[in-house]
Amino acid sequence: MSQANASRKRVVVIEGEDAAPEAMAPTLELIDALGLPIDWLHPQVGAAAKAAHGTTFPAQAREAIDAADATFFGATSGPSVAALFYLRWGKETFANVRPARYMPGCKSPLAHPEGVDLVIVRENLEDLYLGLEGEIGELEGLGLKSRTSRRPLSDYAPARYAIKVLSDEGSLRVLRFSFELARKRRLQGHAGSLTCATKYNMLPVSDGRFRELALEMSADYPDVPLSTPIIDDFGHQLVTRPHQLDVVVMPNLYGDIMSDTAAGLVGGLGLAPSGCYGEGYAYFESAHGTAPDIAGRGIINPSATILSGAMLLQYLGFEPAAERLRRALEAVYAAGRVSTPDQGGSASTVEFCRAIADKL
Ligand code: ATP
Repeated sequence: MSQANASRKRVVVIEGEDAAPEAMAPTLELIDALGLPIDWLHPQVGAAAKAAHGTTFPAQAREAIDAADATFFGATSGPSVAALFYLRWGKETFANVRPARYMPGCKSPLAHPEGVDLVIVRENLEDLYLGLEGEIGELEGLGLKSRTSRRPLSDYAPARYAIKVLSDEGSLRVLRFSFELARKRRLQGHAGSLTCATKYNMLPVSDGRFRELALEMSADYPDVPLSTPIIDDFGHQLVTRPHQLDVVVMPNLYGDIMSDTAAGLVGGLGLAPSGCYGEGYAYFESAHGTAPDIAGRGIINPSATILSGAMLLQYLGFEPAAERLRRALEAVYAAGRVSTPDQGGSASTVEFCRAIADKL
């Protein structure tokens, strides 16, 4: 996952829209304070690019992404979505890693959140996210038969369909990534277990195959305990026994939903980072959206962006600096004096970042 190399690194920054840039700017300042050999590149993307080049994602921006070591992405409400899709499908960043780790001092709905420290790996490219939807009539003549309903498809019109695709290749690579991550975490003192959650009972052909591949692959990882709950049971486990979970792998949609649920358990979206990894590229973005309701007020919680920045540093091979950044953030929460409104405080984004800079 990391590339140990002391040479200068180039990172493309796409700040995104609404409140996202308000979290990105002070995060970059914090990382700059660590004195690392990183050059930030700011190609025009989104509304600015549209005005200047007539497209929200000009060739210059794509070339900058290709030439960089990684990309740091804010969040988009639309204008930067072409860049985001390129980072995901163009660069084949198939593993969306979403850690949910409780930091003392954060606001959690759990009575005992201390020690919750799990990582959801969401398959990032397939499943329902291929965007294959349409009118049900388009499927006529394919001879499709429901496994559950007695009614022919034509009975349902007017109706829409969406296609879920799980390729063997796509499933295998995210499963391999997750087993490796579990093994790595064991070496770091975590449980090193893997949970593969699917709806294999209702979807034995698609989700069942994902699970079957996980079970087969577990022969290569006898040191990684594997469990394969049904996704609804997993949801229950996540809320009632989150301390017992370590690495969790899921197809795209379940991972999308469950990772936001996990974020809620440890303090909310303002604290949820993510990294999207491919074979030769990675980009980093907070799990939250652009928080349009609080845009322009300077109160967005930058923790998710900062923790995504720490994941970026780790990927670039700057692990000690990543740890310093995480510790400084933790120290501010532990002290409990400065926090943003989502955590019950009254600090602005900039004030919060100043407190972190003091701890660095
Ligand atoms: P998307 O569809 O991109 O996820 P959304 O508007 O549904 O966008 P978010 O932008 O994540 O979702 O916002 C959901 C709620 O959480 C909003 O009320 C927003 O203000 C809040 N929120 C999200 N991120 C943060 C943050 N970093 N700090 C404070 N509040 C946040």
